[in-house]
Formats: sequence, C-alpha cells, structure tokens
Amino acid sequence: MLNHTLGLQKRLTIVLLPLLGNGADCRLESFAASLHRPGLPLPTRIDMYRREVSMSKKSVDRIDPVSVALPLEGVDSHAHLDGEEFDQDRESVLERARACGVAHVGNVFLGPEDFNSRRHYFADHPEVFFLLGIHPCHGQDCTPDTLEAMRRAFREEPRLKAVGEIGLDFYWDDCPREVQYETFSTQLRLAREVERPVVIHCREAEEETLMVLESQGFKDYPLLWHCFGKGPDLAQRIIRNGWHISVPGPVTYKANEDLRQAVTVIPAARLMLETDAPYLAPLPWRGKRNEPAFTVFTARTVAETRGEEPEDLWRMCGQNARRFFGV
Ligand SMILES: [Zn+2]
Repeated sequence: MLNHTLGLQKRLTIVLLPLLGNGADCRLESFAASLHRPGLPLPTRIDMYRREVSMSKKSVDRIDPVSVALPLEGVDSHAHLDGEEFDQDRESVLERARACGVAHVGNVFLGPEDFNSRRHYFADHPEVFFLLGIHPCHGQDCTPDTLEAMRRAFREEPRLKAVGEIGLDFYWDDCPREVQYETFSTQLRLAREVERPVVIHCREAEEETLMVLESQGFKDYPLLWHCFGKGPDLAQRIIRNGWHISVPGPVTYKANEDLRQAVTVIPAARLMLETDAPYLAPLPWRGKRNEPAFTVFTARTVAETRGEEPEDLWRMCGQNARRFFGV
C-alpha cells in the first residue's frame, strides 16, 4: 500500500525543495554520475528520467514527482480529490501538486450531494476549481430534485466551471442504457442553460456518444473529452468537432501505442492533461493511488511523444485548460 501519510521530514522536503534542492535531486545526481562516460557530456535531468523509467520495474520504484517537477503553470484537468482515498492527507496531496508545478486542479463532484457536503474541503484552496455532473454509471440519480439542486449550485457557485463528467458507459453497464441516454441529454441541456462547458466520460460507447453530441448540435460547443484512451481516428473526429482532449496517465504504459499515436495528431491548442486521481496512476506509480502531482510524469511522456520540450507542453496544456474552464 502506498504510504501517503507524509512525515514531517518529507513535508519539509516538499515545502523547502524550491529553496534548497532535495534528496531526490542528490539521488538523480549520483544516478547521473553513474551514467557518465568520460568524453561524453553529462546526462541531463531528462536523460536520467527516461533512463529511470525504462529501467526494470524494480529499480524504477518509485520516482518522487517533486524531483521531476515542472514550472508552476500546469493543470490537472480532472481529479476526484473529494473521495475518501484522500481523507488522511488531502492537504499534503495539494501541497505536493503545487511543488510539482500543478497550478490548478479540476475537482469533479459526482452529484449535488457530494458537492454540497464536500466542497468545504477546498475552502482554503482557490487553485482547485470544480466540475459537477452525474456520471453515466449513476444515471438513475438524475431525478428532478437532483437536477434542480445542480441548477442552483451552478447559479450560486462561481468556482463551478463545467458540467461533467457526463456521457455514456457501456463497459460497466451499471445503469440501463435508456437511462444513461436520458441523463446524458438532460445534463447537456443543463450545460447550455447554465452556460458552462461540458466534460465527457465515455467508455465502450464512442459511436453512441458522438451520435448524441453531433445530433444535439454540440459541434463547436466548448467540450472536453476526458480520459481519452483510444487511437488517432477517434481523436481526429473529436478535433473536427472543435472539441478538446484530455490525456491521462495510461499514455505512459508500454502497451498503449495507439494512444501515443493519437497524442501526435492532437493540435497543441486542443490538448490537456489529467490524472483522474485516485485512478489510473502513470508510470512509475502504476497500480498505486494517483494524485495531481503525478501529472508531471504524463506530461513528460506526452512531450517526448510529440517531440516537444516538457516545459513548453506543460505550459501550453495549462493555458488550454485555464482558457477552457475560465480560471
Ligand atoms: Zn473522473
């Protein structure tokens, strides 16, 4: 189990890191020295990072994200930090995100009940903005009362920046498909009414989701396809509709060559990054609890795949997210 309950020493490391440098840097430096061959230039931090990631599973365990931090301009467009997985250390998680260069985090509330009872977790964290929507797997929750509560929330809370995640999920099939369609359409109407962008959840229902959106006139509506996991064809259809794509941690997994190909066809202005924390941790934390700080690993893989500098990619995705959500 991942021990995320940080001791004082680690906490100090995170707080002081930008001022003092840190132990992880020392580790990277000695690692650099071990790679050095006379007559060749010293390996850069990125060489070291790549080398660590490509090394055997055992030895990659587990790079401190702070040691590969990026400038404080990034955005994790999608996380579920209100979940109980973060009840023990939410503050440290947000501190670590900042120390890694994540300037804003989009927290997704899965219904008005969660929103009303948990939004106070972020009262002292203006860097967290909010999304609210009924997930397709909970389609039955979309009653007239719930809808009215959501309408009120969007009217009253300026930190609520988007309706989502909403869509279709035929993978789990927890909720009858007719109900999913109904809940999806109802919330699409709500988004227009409250004048907010839409964030889509879609699993094993790509054609159906596109059909709903295209037939309901959502071409060129501000829309983000969250947790994109498919190939270049779907990416291109999303782009042709004028929408944005958010890339999660699994882009770092060896088998996901299709997804990495898709990443190369997405225009720079349409790309965002996300964790979907606590799920889907990127390498080298795969299988553990995900958290916004880990967006840096995803960013480095996406940048390398696109042949861009990580800092540039990070800044650009951050700007895209801030523009899209209006933060
Ligand atoms: Zn999510």
